[in-house]
Amino acid sequence: MTQTATEPQHQTFPPPADLAAGAVATADLYEEAATDRLAFWGRQANELLTWDTAPTQVLDWSDAPFAKWFADGKLNAAANCVDRHVAAGNGNRVAFHWVGEPGDTVTVTYADLHAQVQRAANALSDLGVRTGDRVAIYLPMIPEAVVAMLACARLGAPHSVVFSGFSAQALRDRVDDAQAVAVITADGGYRRGEPAPLKPAVDAALETKDGVESTVKAVLVVQRTKGEVAWTQGRDHWWHEALAAAAPTHEPVSVEAEHPLFVLYTSGSTGKPKGILHTTGGYLTQAAYTHRNVFDLHPETDVYWCGADIGWVTGHTYIVYGPLLNGATSVMYEGTPNTPTQDRWWQIVETYGVTKLYTAPTTIRTFMKWGEELVSGHDLSSLKVLGSVGEPINPEAWTWYRRVIGGDRTPVVDTWWQTETGGIMISALPGVTTLKPGSAQVPLPGISVEVVDDEGRVLPAGHEGAGYLVLTEPWPGMLRGIWGDDERYRDTYWSRFRDQGWYFAGDGARRDADGDVWLLGRVDDVMNVSGHRISTTEVESALVSHSSVAEAAVVGASDPTTGQGIVAFVILRESAHGADPASIGQELRNHVAREISPIAKPRQVFVVSELPKTRSGKIMRRLLRDVAEDRQVGDVTTLADSSVMASIQAGMSAGK
Ligand code: ATP
Ligand code: MG
Repeated sequence: MTQTATEPQHQTFPPPADLAAGAVATADLYEEAATDRLAFWGRQANELLTWDTAPTQVLDWSDAPFAKWFADGKLNAAANCVDRHVAAGNGNRVAFHWVGEPGDTVTVTYADLHAQVQRAANALSDLGVRTGDRVAIYLPMIPEAVVAMLACARLGAPHSVVFSGFSAQALRDRVDDAQAVAVITADGGYRRGEPAPLKPAVDAALETKDGVESTVKAVLVVQRTKGEVAWTQGRDHWWHEALAAAAPTHEPVSVEAEHPLFVLYTSGSTGKPKGILHTTGGYLTQAAYTHRNVFDLHPETDVYWCGADIGWVTGHTYIVYGPLLNGATSVMYEGTPNTPTQDRWWQIVETYGVTKLYTAPTTIRTFMKWGEELVSGHDLSSLKVLGSVGEPINPEAWTWYRRVIGGDRTPVVDTWWQTETGGIMISALPGVTTLKPGSAQVPLPGISVEVVDDEGRVLPAGHEGAGYLVLTEPWPGMLRGIWGDDERYRDTYWSRFRDQGWYFAGDGARRDADGDVWLLGRVDDVMNVSGHRISTTEVESALVSHSSVAEAAVVGASDPTTGQGIVAFVILRESAHGADPASIGQELRNHVAREISPIAKPRQVFVVSELPKTRSGKIMRRLLRDVAEDRQVGDVTTLADSSVMASIQAGMSAGK
C-alpha cells in the first residue's frame, strides 16, 4: 500500500520550546521503561497513588491471559481521587467547572466532592448496596454522575455506566448482564435545548419481562429537569433526599488491587458490545500516569476539558479517574456543541481559560464542516495541548485542529487506545515528540507494541503493507476479562496470536520508516481490491483532503471482477452544497487515484447528508457494507440515529 500523498502528512512539528522546557514528561521516561519495564510500572504505582498497603509485587502473569497487577497492595479509588487532595490542603481547588446546557453553572471543589461522595456512599449503603455489588449508572453529564461513580468506588461496588442516550432495552441488557442491584438515574437532562426525560426508560427497563424480574432493588433519582416522573414506592428514592438523610462521613473500603472497579460495555462498532472488566490498582495507575504525561498536566495552573461523555471509557479515564487522581481542575459540559449556537465550545474555552482539550475526530470534522468563522471570534490563546481519540484522525483534520483551534501553536496528540486497554497506549508526548499529522506515533513508555503479519512475523519499520497491531506485553490498565465470559475473552483477544501470547487489538496498522505507527482502521474493514490490501482510513483521508469533502466513509463491497470494489460515502462541505453529484463523484474518484494510486479509486461515490455512527461518534462501516452489497442492514441498536440508514438507502436507489 502506498502512502497518501496529501500535503499535511509531510509536515512535522517539533515541541514548542517553552512547553518542552517545563514538561512533566521527558525523554528519560522511555529509557527508564526500556531498562526495567516492571520496575518502571512499580514506581508509577507507588508515586501516583496512595496505598493503604503498599504493593510489593508488580505483575503476576502466571495465569495468563488473566493478569494480576500490584496484587498484594490495598487502596480505595475514591480516597485516591478525593480524600487525599483534601487532606493535603487542596480542598478549595476546583475539581469541576460544570456548565449546564441551558446556561446554569456549578463550581465543584475537591471539598464539595468529598462531602457529596461520602453522603452518597452512605445513601447507597442504606439502600442495601454492599462491597462487590454492581450498580448501574444512567445519568446525563451532571456533577452527580461523577459523585455516583466515586460513591460506588468508595464502597468497592463496581459501577456499570450506561450511556444516557441508550434505550430502555439497552439499559436492561446491561443491567441483566452485570446483575446490577441498583440504578442511579435522573428525571432527565438537557440535550439540544430541550429537557430529555430519562426516568421513563429506567421504569421500562426494570419491568418484569417474560416473567423475569430485574435484579434491581433500588433506584436513586437525581432531580435535574424537574419534570413529572412516575414513582415506584419502595424502589425509587430521590437522590437529594437520600443524601440529606445519610450520615455525612464515610470510611472508604480498602480493597485489594485486583478488586473490580467497573464494568463498561464497548461501543459496538464491530458487533455485540462486550462487558469489559477493569480492576482497581492497575487501572488507576495507568489512568493517572497517562493523563499526567500525555496532557503535560500541571494541576495548579491547568484547566483541562475532555469533551467525551461519561458513558464511554474516555469519560471514565479522562473525565473522572485520571484528572481527579492528578488533582486537576476540569471543565464538564452537559449538552451538545451547537446549543444554543455552534460556537458554544469556544465560548466555554474562552470563559474558563481551558489549557488542555481532548475530543474526537468526528467532533473536529463537524467543526470543520461548520466553518472556521465560528472559532475566529473567540480568544483561544489559553490552549496549550490538544488531544484526539476514538478514530484515526485524518491529516487534514489534524492540521485544521492545530491551526484553527490551536492557533498554529499547540501540539496535537493523537491517542490510540480502547475500552479494553483502560488508558492511552500509543501517543506522542507533547514536550518530547516531533509530531506527524495523522500518525498516533509511538507507544508510551512502559507499553510494548508491534505490527505483525498474518503469521505473526514482525513487520519492520518502513514496510509498505498493512499489518495487525498487537500488544506484546501486559500493561497495568489492561482489561481483566469480559464480564461473565472468560471464553469470549480468550477468543476475542488472545487466540489470534496464541503461540506468541500477544493481545490482538483488531486494528490494522503500519510503521513508517521512522518507526511511527499509523492506524489503518479495523482489521475487518481492510479492503482487498485485485489482490491489493487497501485501508479504509487512507482512502477516507484522501477524500477529506479534497476541498469539497467534510466527511467520508469507505467500504469494500464484493465485486465480480476485482474481488472487492471500493464504495465511498461522502458528506460535502457547506461551500460545495448544490454541486452536481455525478461530476463531483468523478472528480473525487480521480482525486483518490492521484493521491494514493489508481487501484484505490472508488468504484462508486455516493453523496449523503449523514453517516451511520455509534453513539460515541464512530462510523459503523459494517452497515454501509450491507447497503453497498444490497443486503438487509444488520444490528442497528447502538446507532445514534436509526433513520440515517433509511435516508442513505433512499439516496442510493435514487442515484442508481
Ligand atoms: P466494539 O469493540 O464493540 O466494536 P469499539 O471498538 O468502537 O466497539 P471502543 O473501545 O470505544 O469501542 O473503541 C476502540 C477502537 O477505537 C480502537 O480499537 C480503534 O479502532 C479506534 N480508535 C481509538 N482511538 C484511535 C486512534 N487514536 N486512532 C485510530 N483508531 C482509534
Ligand atoms: Mg473494539
